Amino acid sequence: MNPKLKLTLTHYLNSTNSTSITFNVPTPHSNSVPFLKTKHFLRFLIRSFFSDFNETVSTRFLHVRHLGLFCLAQNGRARANGLLSYITAYKQQVCAPAVGQFTSKRALCTDKEDKMASMDERFAFIAEWYDANAALIRRYQFLFYTKDNTIEMFDIKNRRVFLKRSKCEGIELRDVFIGASVSIHSRQLKFVDYADDFTRKRLSTRKERTLAMVKPCSTDKVGHIIDMIFSDGLHITKAIMTKVSRAEAQEFYRMHEQKPFYDELVRYLTSGIVIPMELMGENAIQRWRQLAGPTDSAIARSEAPLSVRAKFGKDKQTNAVHGADSPENAERELNFFFAGAPKPNTATLVDCTCCVIKPHAVLAGHAGKIIVAIQEAGFTISALQMFNMDRANAEEFYEVYKGVVAEYTDMVTELISGPSIALEVTGKGGETPASFREFVGPADPEIARHLRPRTLRAIFGTDKIKNAVHCTDLPEDGVLETEYFFRILSQ
Ligand code: ADP
Ligand code: MG
Repeated sequence: MNPKLKLTLTHYLNSTNSTSITFNVPTPHSNSVPFLKTKHFLRFLIRSFFSDFNETVSTRFLHVRHLGLFCLAQNGRARANGLLSYITAYKQQVCAPAVGQFTSKRALCTDKEDKMASMDERFAFIAEWYDANAALIRRYQFLFYTKDNTIEMFDIKNRRVFLKRSKCEGIELRDVFIGASVSIHSRQLKFVDYADDFTRKRLSTRKERTLAMVKPCSTDKVGHIIDMIFSDGLHITKAIMTKVSRAEAQEFYRMHEQKPFYDELVRYLTSGIVIPMELMGENAIQRWRQLAGPTDSAIARSEAPLSVRAKFGKDKQTNAVHGADSPENAERELNFFFAGAPKPNTATLVDCTCCVIKPHAVLAGHAGKIIVAIQEAGFTISALQMFNMDRANAEEFYEVYKGVVAEYTDMVTELISGPSIALEVTGKGGETPASFREFVGPADPEIARHLRPRTLRAIFGTDKIKNAVHCTDLPEDGVLETEYFFRILSQ
């Protein structure tokens, strides 16, 4: 039998007006009560408590609801005390509810509660959505719960729940980081900041960023290198195939100015195209240095035979890849390539076709293998850039399919669901578009697996929407589509 618990909850509307409510509620036993029942109990409590204050019920409900999560499985008294202390803390901020308020949860936790809270880790971000109809940027507090991969959102300006805690297909913690975009109920959200110190502390090392660069000698190995990066568990969050000028190379390697090999090094870096990439992951700086291997490719072959330089480097200088060596240099080098005016890409826009590695394939770690397959089939990748498409651009790009292909809307949603990699494919003269289309295979991977099992879509596609890559349909559109990415979007 559940004992009755008498709760006196005091709520201060503001400094001059306070209200106290006493009521009896059944108290679930801490350990015998299943999670949901406990949560329902707290919801009931909160609803009862706040039902008098209709004008701002949603805001209050929202703040106290977190309490329900951190008080989980506490005994009734502790829960009541927790609720009271929470409300006291809440009272102090009630006149100016702000983002930080949602984070007061941990400050109120006892040790025991703290342990419990960590079972249900919650990461908080600030996310923005561009509301095209209102021409406004809307800001949300976005919460991610690792225990069950659920999300919850609050509208910051209107101070209300925007999305109740719920599962969102396909979104995992790895997809949520500053700068990333995700699609939630057809809104494309961009994460612009952490919303609390806990998240900042926990994720800033887990989501460390570094600069990796494919050097001119090994751009034909970029597929293998990208594959090694994914296999190591690192994410590529930015990438562009570009060229550096002599002045830029001198600046990039300025710390080696006094070294005897400096001039040669600058000449090497400017001798062809390079592919700088932003990598992200736990200890990304050190991990990428380790994966790259020792500076001298010969030493790499003897001491780290599985490293990138062991596999693709030639000697001391011509060593396949670069990696930033400290957080300061990572920041400087990332800014060098990815801040300010966009670096020029290498698109030729002649006898080319456009290939886009779709977000699902990038997220699944197939991008490297897809690029390897394209290069091994005799095509040249003459431009490459990672994009986070927004809805307006995806709709524009797919416009020719609108009203023609039943999957149009889903295709747009897929294209904006994460990072994609656009490629300018060349190498077979005027035949390139038709030949590449053959190589990619039928739009439906199921059909491709039956009819053309060696095609890209047969190997890497899942279904008609997640069919691994987009490729230009009509040869005459090859240049147009390539231009869309490498002339229009890249600006
Ligand atoms: P890393 O790239 O491993 O951080 P360094 O920062 O010492 O190595 O050197 C920068 C780049 O200069 C190297 O990647 C390599 O291309 C070139 N380099 C380094 N040492 C030599 C050398 N002794 N002779 C010729 N080139 C060198
Ligand atoms: Mg170095």
